[in-house]
Amino acid sequence: MIFFVNIGCFESSYFSWKQKNLPKSFFFESSLARNVPKESRYYHINKADSKVIFIKKKNIVFVIGADKSVQFQLIEAILDYISDEFIEIYGESFLNSYDAIYDDFFKGFNSVVEKAIKIVPSKNGKFIDAFCKYCKKTLKIYVKNSLIENSTKKLVPLVFNHQDHALLLYIDTNFVVRSAEIIAISG
Ligand SMILES: [Zn+2]
Repeated sequence: MIFFVNIGCFESSYFSWKQKNLPKSFFFESSLARNVPKESRYYHINKADSKVIFIKKKNIVFVIGADKSVQFQLIEAILDYISDEFIEIYGESFLNSYDAIYDDFFKGFNSVVEKAIKIVPSKNGKFIDAFCKYCKKTLKIYVKNSLIENSTKKLVPLVFNHQDHALLLYIDTNFVVRSAEIIAISG
């Protein structure tokens, strides 16, 4: 389940969406994320009860939170859709001069977020099978289309972290897993 979406710049929040009946406020996560240093890379945060991903595009920070069971690739696919749509609809130059006084201005974007949550999982990626030798079972792993389509490599690497180990996958351009190895982790 997607918990929340927040879009903003520095101190200002342009747009905020939250799953209905969710009591928790995500102001803290969103304001923390706005200090991101680099454009166009994904920042992943693993929290005790949720996952948060954010990305900065055109000086605007897009933050999304989901429950732990939602795979990062799927959340990224939704984030990609939402951020592209937002920039396309509201325009970069306008956003940079926007003074966030009119809280309702971006209200119409609620329907874009709800549409994204509904259509992106099946439209912008797919679940593929990969066998994990530790778990001794086939896992369903979500891969977003753009990961494969934007790659310059014939085999695209992807690390799938689960439980206490990680699986390194090499995926071909037809979304078939060509190898799946348990890998050691350092850092
Ligand atoms: Zn495993």
